[in-house]
Amino acid sequence: MRYRCIHSAEEVRRFPPIDVSPCQTISQASHHRAEFGVERRWEAWRKSRSGGIGRRAGFKILFWQQSVGSIPTSGIELVHDIERPTERVPGPGTCYTGSCALHERLMDILLANPRCYCAGVDRAVQIVELAIETFGAPVYVRKEIVHNQFVVNRLRDLGAVFVEELSEVPEASLVVFSAHGVAPSIHKEAKERELRVIDASCPLVTKVHLEVLRFVKEGYHIAFIGRKGHEEVEGTIGHAPDHITLVEDVLQAGTVDLPADKKLMVLMQTTLSVDDTKVVVNALRERYPRLELPPTEDICYATQNRQDAVKEMCESGIGLLLVVGSHNSSNAARLVEVAQRRNVPGYRIDNANELDSKWLEGVELIGLTGGASTPDEVVQSVIVRLKELGAGDVRPCTTAEENVVFQLPLVLKEAEARFPTGQPATK
Ligand code: SF4
Repeated sequence: MRYRCIHSAEEVRRFPPIDVSPCQTISQASHHRAEFGVERRWEAWRKSRSGGIGRRAGFKILFWQQSVGSIPTSGIELVHDIERPTERVPGPGTCYTGSCALHERLMDILLANPRCYCAGVDRAVQIVELAIETFGAPVYVRKEIVHNQFVVNRLRDLGAVFVEELSEVPEASLVVFSAHGVAPSIHKEAKERELRVIDASCPLVTKVHLEVLRFVKEGYHIAFIGRKGHEEVEGTIGHAPDHITLVEDVLQAGTVDLPADKKLMVLMQTTLSVDDTKVVVNALRERYPRLELPPTEDICYATQNRQDAVKEMCESGIGLLLVVGSHNSSNAARLVEVAQRRNVPGYRIDNANELDSKWLEGVELIGLTGGASTPDEVVQSVIVRLKELGAGDVRPCTTAEENVVFQLPLVLKEAEARFPTGQPATK
């Protein structure tokens, strides 16, 4: 929303392109204030067409806090530029606090539910926390445990050491594999280097790995829909690299060559866009009608639920979608795309500091969500910032209830049995 709260006639005079008589503005406002409640005052102003101030200057008087007769001798009036946006210029009396009642009425937040942590991320983060607690720091983590900067920094402070490759991990150290899953070659390398491993791969990623092994064993060639370079995709393809062809998008689906003499199965990354993936599958099936789908969806429940919530928020008339998530979060990026495909501007932000107040200009209802690797506390800090910028009510947009939990204690109990508490993590 491009707006400026004007609290005095002096400001009305100072800020271009306003070219109205402040006295006229104030007396019109005073007239309506005397006769109607807040909501009806606004309606009365729009209908009256008297004075023409709103039409001429692009201003409408919505609400005021105080007036001294009809003469604006002090900063008292709140006037919002709605129809003709102007730059938001800091200046005395300009309202940036969001504390005025007008802001609360104009910019509400629709908060997605479900949002943020999925069961797989929750489990992976807890595994690192408990590993540090149980075995002591440092605990090495191959790749980012989940794609979220806030989480990675917090775990680093607790004693996690993030590495890109196992070669950076001292021999016999404790290493945690990330939620995105790894190829068998990584397990092999860890064994060769006598590393102690706790695998935090999400069980739903592991499910896709097992599908790969099963279908390859049954003689299928797999068209795998996913994003090149993503850790999950590398881990999955690494289970049968000679029997998988990566298909990134609908363009590739139109050109990719799949073996003519084999049964064909399509599998996919767990965090893709549900809608886009259907398009890619259809394009593949047009060229390869014998292509089969697995018995259950690969795109996981959390991805689907978060995208459904964004779709519902778009239906509810949000003028902007903010997705809290890190730059490398596939899940968060897809949520932005879901909104953009519905002509709703969408932005991904890592935290409240990345929020650009320009995005809020002209927006009356903001959709807010967090990707599956984002802790809710970061979303809550964005809400605080939005309120500072003028947001009012926060309303939930609930599209599903999630109660999925992946067992954690078993993983650590097994690890604990092999590596007694107190054993140093490094030699
Ligand atoms: S997004 Fe889905 S697949 Fe990925 S960690 Fe979460 S639950 Fe598992």
